[in-house]
Amino acid sequence: MRFVSTRGQAPAVGLSEAIRRGAAPDGGLYVPESIPGPVPDAGLPLPDFAAAMLAPFFAGDPLEPALPAICAETFDFPLPIVTPDPARRDMRALELFHGPTGAFKDFGARFLAACFARLGEPLTILVATSGDTGGAVGAATEGRANLRTLILYPRGRVSPFQALQLGCWGPPVQALEVEGDFDDCQRLVKAAFADPDLSARHQLTSANSINVGRLLPQMAFLGWAAACVHAETRMNPGLIVPTGNLGHGFAALYARAMGLPIGPVRLVTNANRTLSDWAESEIYAPRPAVATIANAMDVGAPSNFERLSALLRPFHIFTVERVEDDALRARILADYRSSGYVWCPHSAAAAEAYARLDPGTREERPWLLCATAHPFKFAEIVEPLLGRAIDPPPALGAIIHREARALPVPASLAALAEALDRPIAP
Ligand SMILES: *Cc1c(COP(=O)(O)O)cnc(C)c1O
Repeated sequence: MRFVSTRGQAPAVGLSEAIRRGAAPDGGLYVPESIPGPVPDAGLPLPDFAAAMLAPFFAGDPLEPALPAICAETFDFPLPIVTPDPARRDMRALELFHGPTGAFKDFGARFLAACFARLGEPLTILVATSGDTGGAVGAATEGRANLRTLILYPRGRVSPFQALQLGCWGPPVQALEVEGDFDDCQRLVKAAFADPDLSARHQLTSANSINVGRLLPQMAFLGWAAACVHAETRMNPGLIVPTGNLGHGFAALYARAMGLPIGPVRLVTNANRTLSDWAESEIYAPRPAVATIANAMDVGAPSNFERLSALLRPFHIFTVERVEDDALRARILADYRSSGYVWCPHSAAAAEAYARLDPGTREERPWLLCATAHPFKFAEIVEPLLGRAIDPPPALGAIIHREARALPVPASLAALAEALDRPIAP
């Protein structure tokens, strides 16, 4: 399989190179040259299902023989499909938050790290983060030979638990607490990549959400979950996906295009309206992000929109629902009162979108809602609403006693270069 740029001005490359590069040199995003099939049998355990489903993307690439091991490393924690409310049996939640950092970013980060570690050259991963991604990449690369990870996050702009989750990982991971905001962090990472000397000396690579290595495992778990529900009900479940950068949304549409038994796809955003405006007007107008309580979806210019547009009809048919903060809060509270189930603010967007389906559409098939993070990660929002404490799941409980060891740095390229040259402290 070859991967081509959405802008069509860069040479086609194999999977390893697409993963190593992140973005294509013409500024576009890599997409597979063709949509492969057929799809694996339902009933396989997730790691085997993923290896079978993703095999066509690895065909002919140096990483091909490692695919089963990459999938075994990535999918080594539970992925339950639950029925949160016994009174609504057709509503299932796909709990994507049982990994080491409690959010679905763990899948992409672990898959990508497993690929990076096997590319056959030492690499330094630079990641600018405003929350979930940095922690997931730190957890996924801790203890790995051949890799170094520098996580840049804005000082004072992440919650105390997030700061711990960014700073607590051992070598070869180092968190940098940047004196600036998230845009400064991103600017520094871009400046480092644009510096030919730094980029070559440290063999820089990135783990941001446009990397195909993050999309592939998301297609696999969505495909697997849909196949499980289909095997049980003989119906194609609808998918409701909370989305920001459209990584998860694109993965859902792509998995359906490959022939996985997925019914209608409903993408849900928070108050950031770029996608819902586009769905109404067909005009794509990026805007500045607005802050919401579902902050991992605070995106005004979804980076994977370009990939979505490259998917031809009938593959990119989906609907969009926008859920504002008040409705997220009300949904968390209402579902807790009626069933005892606790959504995180992002997952609550999916639950609210389900509740807004017209009854006919809702009742005609099972629906799978992506629960993208554990509510403990957003305890400062959820606990006051419910008036009770949220217990951490085991993986998050396990890091509470760790110590954050972030290095404070000014927001300058010189400071980043110096950090790159330092050995990672044990
Ligand atoms: C990143 C994230 C999302 C949005 O995912 P995209 O791939 O950007 O669409 C939703 N929920 C949580 C908890 C996230 O961390």
